[in-house]
Order: sequence, then C-alpha cells, then structure tokens
Amino acid sequence: MTPIESVNAFFDRGAQLIHLKDEMYAVLKSSYREVQVQVPVRMDDGRLEVFTGYRIQHNGARGPYKGGVRYHPTADLDEVRALASLMTWKTALVDIPFGGAKGGITVDPTGMSPREIQTMTRRFTNAIGHVLGVHRDIPAPDMNTNAQVMAWMMDAYSATHGYSPAAVTGKPLDLGGAAGREAATGRGVVYVLEGAAKHWGLDLTECRVAIQGFGNVGSWVARGLDDLGAKVVAASDRDGGAYRSDGLDITALARLAGNRHSVAEAADVEQISNEELLACDCDILIPAALGDVITEANAPKVRAGIVVEAANHPTTTEADAILVDAGKRVIPDLLANAGGVTGSYFEWTQNIQQFKWKEERFNDELRDVMVRALDATLTFADARQVSMRDAAFAIGIERVARTSKLRGYV
Ligand code: GLU
Repeated sequence: MTPIESVNAFFDRGAQLIHLKDEMYAVLKSSYREVQVQVPVRMDDGRLEVFTGYRIQHNGARGPYKGGVRYHPTADLDEVRALASLMTWKTALVDIPFGGAKGGITVDPTGMSPREIQTMTRRFTNAIGHVLGVHRDIPAPDMNTNAQVMAWMMDAYSATHGYSPAAVTGKPLDLGGAAGREAATGRGVVYVLEGAAKHWGLDLTECRVAIQGFGNVGSWVARGLDDLGAKVVAASDRDGGAYRSDGLDITALARLAGNRHSVAEAADVEQISNEELLACDCDILIPAALGDVITEANAPKVRAGIVVEAANHPTTTEADAILVDAGKRVIPDLLANAGGVTGSYFEWTQNIQQFKWKEERFNDELRDVMVRALDATLTFADARQVSMRDAAFAIGIERVARTSKLRGYV
C-alpha cells in the first residue's frame, strides 16, 4: 500500500464508525488543493539542480490550513498527500482552529550547504506563496527542516506581503518563535503517555522504553521520560542505535547528538541497528523518526506491549492490524505527536496578539490540550471497544464533518 492508501484505510475505518454519509465521505477523503512547483537551485559548484516541491491543502473547514514542510527523498506527491490528510484529523482531534496541510521537497539535504538550503527554501516559498498566509495556510518545521528554515520562509513570505511572523510557525525565538515550541512535540508525547499510563494503571518508573530517532522529537521524549523516572534502554538515529538494559545516560546521548555524533557512539552501550531496536526487549516502543518503519515483516517481532507513535505514520495498515490483534496498545500519531502543531497554534496566537507567553504557561496549556484529547480518545475507544487509532480518526472526522456541513460544503 502507498502512504495515501494506508492513511485512507485508517480514514475508512473511522468514517464507518460514525456512519459518515457518502457525500461527506467524498468531500473529506480527497485534498482540497494540491500545488506542485519546480524549485531550481544553483548549487555551490555551479550546477543547476531542479527539485520538485509540493504544498497540499487537505481540508480547511475548521480554520487555516496547517502543517509542516519536509525535505526528504521520499517526500513525493503521494506521501505529502497522506501527511496532509493526517494533519486534518490531528488538528481536529486536539480541537485547535486549523485545517490540515503538508509541504515537501523531494530532496536529500544532507551535504547541502546552508546557502543552497536557503536558496531552495526561498524559491519554494515564493513558488507556493500565493496559497500561504496568516489566515490561509501556515507552514511549520517537519523532517529535515528547523527554526532557521522557518526564518527564511517567513522572510521570503514577508518580502512580498509585509512583516508577517504569524505566517510561519516553529521560528527562532528572536523572530517571533514561542518559548516551548521546539520541545512541544516531544513534551506532548510525554504528557499523553503519562496520562495513558495512569488510565491503564501502569507505573512509568517500572517501564523500559526504546526510542527510534534522536532528533527534535526523540531527544525531547527521551529527556521527558528520563525525568519521570522511566528507564530509556534503547535509542537510535540514522547511523545506528545504543542499548543498555540498566538504562542509557540521556544527558550523554544529548551531548553526542548536539555535537553531530551518533548516539551509537556512547560509552558502555551495546550497539544495535534501527531494525533491532524495534524488536528489542522493552515495554514501550516509541518510533520518533521515519514513517512506515513498523511493517508486516517486523510487527510480529515487536516485544513492547505499548507503541507510541511520535513520528507521523510510522506503522503501516497491515502492521497496525498485527499489533492490535496481538493485544498491543497503540497510541496513534494523530494523538501522540499533536503537541507540535498545538505548540504552533500557541505561537501563531502570540504572533497575532504581539504578546509573549512564559514557557510555563505554554507547557501548562499544552498539557491541558493533550490530556483533553487523550480523554476523548480513551472514552470513545472504551465505549465502542475499538482501538485508539480508530477512535482518534472517528473523533477527528466527526468534528470536521460537522464544520463542513455548517459551512455548506455538502
Ligand atoms: N510537522 C509537525 C506535525 O507533523 C508540526 C506541524 C505544525 O506545527 O504545523 O505535526
């Protein structure tokens, strides 16, 4: 299955649970607008590279389109379309006033110079600028994009539209970024897991956790869980992983990652591959990097009883069925990683009001939103005896359908 077929299979299950009418189904299943652009970039060695970029606006019934921009070799039309759809259900599930979108350029930015990345970002922003805007569509960071890339996007957009910090989120603190936004996805994962553990009567200090990915999301999840007393026994990045049954030294791993080293280089650890991490001996598995990593082939080997999807779409449809049949609890991406876009919402509101919140307020509000969405998901899942993923999709779809009806889309 391609990513969009896979997301649509999840969508179909949610839609069935709420008996979505055929006409509404047709409107909600496909994207509203799909922009594909050419991004020519003069590279440092004088060659011209022509990349392809996308901005997909899936649904805007509940507010401006919202979603990240990723620079990745697999970011093609199909993948970005699937991720845009996920954003629609995610923003609805956490009940923030946004629709869903995603952008991407099919490129491997490793090895590209900062000048090349800046040129590519400005070209791309200019090419899609006509569909962006503070009340139209607001990009944010995603895989291989960060606060600096958002600063360039905001600057390119502002060059034609006037100073517009609220047109992009995930910006540096000195340029309208919000204190707390950078850690927000990871913190959101921790808040949800903490709440779910309480609901299930689990003591996190007795849990062993494996985290795939030690980038912006994985590293903050590791820090947050370590602070709560959970034992992080495995962590990895693109170059490999580290395992230690007594628990890893998260501060040491963060130092390595900060110095552009692999966590696999840590002292006193057993080196493991990313594939081995998924099957390692642990209680909670947290994929926090790439999509489609838990597949039909490796799902039967997952030993953890709980899977928390910090990444977007880390589990294929077939793998999801295997995990659920095996009685595992899967906290789906729509819920688990929604802290990022929720933090973006806080940044956007602060930019619009020209007002700065303290980080404690940001984190308190974030916890409230995440816990409310978790409660809604658990209540639906328990009442209907369905998985948390099916519940999350059903709640999101129901909310978007209600607003779409009020706005007269159907
Ligand atoms: N890229 C993040 C996500 O997938 C954040 C999106 C945003 O803040 O708009 O949810």
